[in-house]
This record gives sequence, C-alpha cells and structure tokens, in this order.
Amino acid sequence: MTFNDNAKLDTSRVSKRGRNTGIAVGGGSAVVVIGLFLLSQLLGVDLTGLAGGAQQGTQNEESLEKCDFGSDANADVECLMVGAENSLYDYWTDEAPALGVAFTPTNDINLFTDSIGTGCGQASSATGPFYCPPDQSIYIDTSFFDELRTQFGATGGTLSEMYVVAHEYGHHIQNLLGVMDRTDRTDTGPTSDSVRTELQADCFAGAWVAAASTTEDVDGVTFLKPVTDAQVADALNAASVIGDDRIQEMGSGQVNPETWTHGSSEQREKWFQAGLKNGAGSCDTFSISGSEL
Ligand SMILES: [Zn+2]
Repeated sequence: MTFNDNAKLDTSRVSKRGRNTGIAVGGGSAVVVIGLFLLSQLLGVDLTGLAGGAQQGTQNEESLEKCDFGSDANADVECLMVGAENSLYDYWTDEAPALGVAFTPTNDINLFTDSIGTGCGQASSATGPFYCPPDQSIYIDTSFFDELRTQFGATGGTLSEMYVVAHEYGHHIQNLLGVMDRTDRTDTGPTSDSVRTELQADCFAGAWVAAASTTEDVDGVTFLKPVTDAQVADALNAASVIGDDRIQEMGSGQVNPETWTHGSSEQREKWFQAGLKNGAGSCDTFSISGSEL
C-alpha cells in the first residue's frame, strides 16, 4: 500500500530502541506472537528466555524524527511502521466503539534491534513480532520482514509488512474487548481458542486494509492510496506463509494439526479476506463451529 506523500506522520506512539542491556526483575506473562515459536526450531534459536522474567528496558531511545510525511513511509521501513500505526490509530478510534468497547491506543509500538526487555519477558528478533498484553505494546524488529522473504518465501511488499502491524494491533483490540482474558491460550489445535484468537486478529487486519485509504491525518489528509489487487495478494501471501501447516512442512516435513496455535495457511487467508470483505463486525471467530473456522 502506498502513502500519500503529503500525509503528516505522528511519531509519538512509536519508539525505536537500540541493543538491550536490561536487568531481569522477575514477572512475565503470556505473549502473543504472529509467527512463531516454531521459528526457533527452524532457525535453531532458543526462545526460552521469553517465558522467564520480565526485564527493565534500559536501551537508549533513538529518534524517529526522520518520519515526517507519507513520502518518508514510502521510502523507509521504520517510517512505514509509524504510518501504519497512525492509520490503525485513526481506524480503531471509530471502529472499536462500533464493536462495543472504548478505544485506547497501544502504549507503544517498539521497533527494536536484536533483543529487548518487555512486560512479557525478554524477547529477541527470532521471536518474531508480537503484542504483549500486560504492557499493551507491540514489539517488532523490522529485520523480520527480510526473514519473511528469505526464510518463508513471502512475496513481500509494503502491505504485507503493514499486515503484520495490523495483526498485532488486532491483538490489542482483543485485549480491550476482553478476549485475552476469556480465552484459554494454552489450548492448541485447529479449532482451539489460540487459533480462534489468531484468526480474529487476521480478520481485524483485513478489516483495516479495507478502510485504510479512508483514514486521515490531523489535517484531514488521507494516509493511504486505495489498495491494489497485487498488494492484497502480497498480504494474503504473508498470511499464508506463516500458517502453521506451512511452517510445519518447512520445519519437520510433517503436519500435526493438534499442535497448531495460529491456524493453517487456508484459515489465515480466509479470515483476512472475511475482514476485508465484511469489516471488523464480521470477525467473530469464537461463536462459530470448528468446521466453519
Ligand atoms: Zn498473533
């Protein structure tokens, strides 16, 4: 998706931090990862630190003042993340109340490098982008987008990258809606609460895409140009390559639905498209039967 060059960006809810030098202080909680704990198996990286204690981030905050306008989002991936946040913020300001909940934005969208201490424990780039419910923040190492192409064979493109942010923002909306508290996230399998939660986040991402070109900056300039079919195809492709079945095939060559946490490639594409066609109000993945998922 392409930003209008003169749309004004607001960097106030996005931060960038350098290499972590944090100190463990205990605590920690569930983490909602778009991709993969399974990435750890593929890449041979140990993610067990995430399950451990929370850390106080002591990273130096770096400036995002290079991100002034939509033209910067079109040219720079970090500014693209700022632009995506701005559009999602505007979209959910209206849409969250329509779903019956007061809107408050994410506390922070944190663009980190290598590793970072979060309210959900220590995270590394190998964790993949995730939303942390206790601190209501999204954590993204933008090098993940290179991995999507090189490790997962995704076609790439700016909408596929913004889809990742929109999916994580969907988890924030779920947190506001109380979905995170109501569901059993330890459950796995193709009709589990975990998969239903992830598919709803994909559906919310699709709903934002459908409305993204109507979202506006503070001066009423629309952030994004209308989405093209090729861009939607890139986003669907991204949803597909991080389907549990595809990842299992890549990893062990064997597909075991009982361990799924995010849904199959087909499920993820289906629910992204459901949101795209019918909006956020159609994203009830919890009250339908397993065969309809
Ligand atoms: Zn997710």
